[in-house]
Amino acid sequence: MSLSNNSNKTISHYTSDIWSYITKLFNNDNILIDYSCKLCSPNQKTYAPGCAISTLHHHLQNKHHETYISFKNELYNITYCLVNWIISDLQPFSVVENSQFHDLIYTLNPKYKIPTRQTIRDLIIKIFNTQ
Ligand SMILES: [Zn+2]
Repeated sequence: MSLSNNSNKTISHYTSDIWSYITKLFNNDNILIDYSCKLCSPNQKTYAPGCAISTLHHHLQNKHHETYISFKNELYNITYCLVNWIISDLQPFSVVENSQFHDLIYTLNPKYKIPTRQTIRDLIIKIFNTQ
């Protein structure tokens, strides 16, 4: 089984790690008081700590569209390559739980959040069912 080409977007999984663009602001008691967009600097847009992660994604998508698309494509490409490697090399899904593997991926791209083995399994099943 092989994956279709990258532009097919068979993989719908994207990590929700947007913390490269959003800063968590804490008060002196180390309590989260706001989320702040790094890209809006110096007039950073802030959001209350109770806001949904999707709200932060919407801000990035609407206010920093090119950065957001580039971010999504980068994450998609990494996940695509990861799933393709697991399939083609018959790696166990649990490879994504290996701490040295985490170190490798973090070294290559600190922004990337490795999917769980359950997510990898679901992606491969989804790819298999669409081919
Ligand atoms: Zn912003």
